[in-house]
Amino acid sequence: MSPYLYIVPVFFLMIATEYCVARVRGRDLYRFQDTVTSLNAGLVSQFINVMGGAFSVYMYSLLVGQFGLFTWDSGSVWTWLLALVLYDFCYYWVHRAGHEINLFWASHVIHHSSEDFNLATALRQSATGFYFKWAFYLPLAVLGIPTKVFVVVALIDLLYQYWVHTQLVGRLGILERFLVTPSNHRVHHGQNDYCIDKNYGGIFSLWDQLFGTYADERADEKIIYGIRKPLNSWDPVWANVQHYFVIGRLVRAARSGRERFMHVFGPPRGPLQLEAVQEKPFDAARFAPFATPYTGRMKLIGGISTLVGVCMLMTLYVIDARLSLEQNLLYSAVMLAFFSFIGRLWMRPEMMGSAR
Ligand SMILES: [Zn+2]
Ligand SMILES: [Zn+2]
Repeated sequence: MSPYLYIVPVFFLMIATEYCVARVRGRDLYRFQDTVTSLNAGLVSQFINVMGGAFSVYMYSLLVGQFGLFTWDSGSVWTWLLALVLYDFCYYWVHRAGHEINLFWASHVIHHSSEDFNLATALRQSATGFYFKWAFYLPLAVLGIPTKVFVVVALIDLLYQYWVHTQLVGRLGILERFLVTPSNHRVHHGQNDYCIDKNYGGIFSLWDQLFGTYADERADEKIIYGIRKPLNSWDPVWANVQHYFVIGRLVRAARSGRERFMHVFGPPRGPLQLEAVQEKPFDAARFAPFATPYTGRMKLIGGISTLVGVCMLMTLYVIDARLSLEQNLLYSAVMLAFFSFIGRLWMRPEMMGSAR
C-alpha cells in the first residue's frame, strides 16, 4: 500500500498549521485559487504517478539487473546514507536538467508556476517527469544500489523538500552552506534576475556550491515568486502540458534541423527561443500576480473539488493493486478531466453568480 496514504493527511495538517501561524503573525501567504490549484496539481501528479512511479521503479530495477556492479548490504546504515547522498547528487542533475533543457523544463515548469510560496506550492508537482527522470539515476544502478533502497531514499529526498517551501522560517546560519533550506529554496522559486537557475539541490546545497549554481537570499531585494512567462490559468492539467505545446509550436516554426534540436534540447531561454521572454530584465515593480474574480460558490466548488480528489486518491491507493492498467488509466483520466473542468470553470466567473 502507498506510504502516501499516511503522508497526504500530514501534508494537509502542515498547510493548515502554516496558514494559521502566518495569520497570527499578520501575514497572508495563501490565496485561495492559487492554493487550490497547487493542491489539485499535487493530486493530478499523484493520479498519474501511481502508474508513473511504478514505471520508474521498473526501469530502475531493469538497470540494476543489467549494469549493477556491486552487492550492497541493505541492513547497513552506511548503505542507506551513501545511497541518500548519491541519490541527492543525481537529483541535483535531474533538477538542473529540468531548468536548463527545454523538454525537461516543460515537465518541471508547473512546480514554479505558482506566484505564491507556501507549503501548498510544494505539492504543485509535475505529472510528466516519470518518463525521463529514472535515466538520471543510472550511476546508482551501475553501483548496484538495490531497488528497495533506491525507492526509500527517493521518498526521503522528496519528503525533505516539503518543509523548505515556507516563508515563515528565516535564514539558518551555517546550515545554508550544506543544506537546502527555506531561505535558499525561496531563491530557487524567485523570478528576480539573481534567482534564475540557482539552488537546484534536493537535501544538500553542497552540490550548488560545488557547481557554481548557489545563491544566497538577499535581504535588500524582495523575492517575486513564479515564472517570467506566467501560466495565467487555474487548470492543473493545462499547467502540466502547456510548455510541451510551446515546444511543438517552436519546432513547427523552425527553419533547420539544428533549430528544431535546440528548441527541444537547448535551454528554455536560448537564443533560438521565439518566446524568449525571460531574456528581458526583470522589473519587480511591474509584476502583478495572476488573479481572476471569483464568487463564493466558486470557492465552495474549488474546496469540494480538492476534498473529492483526496478521497478518490486515497481510494486509489487502497484498490490500486487490484486494478488493471486500463482501469487505472480510466480512473486517473476521469479525475484529470474533473480537475481541468474545475480550473477552467474558475476562469468563467460570469457562469457562477456575481464576482467579487
Ligand atoms: Zn526547480
Ligand atoms: Zn520547490
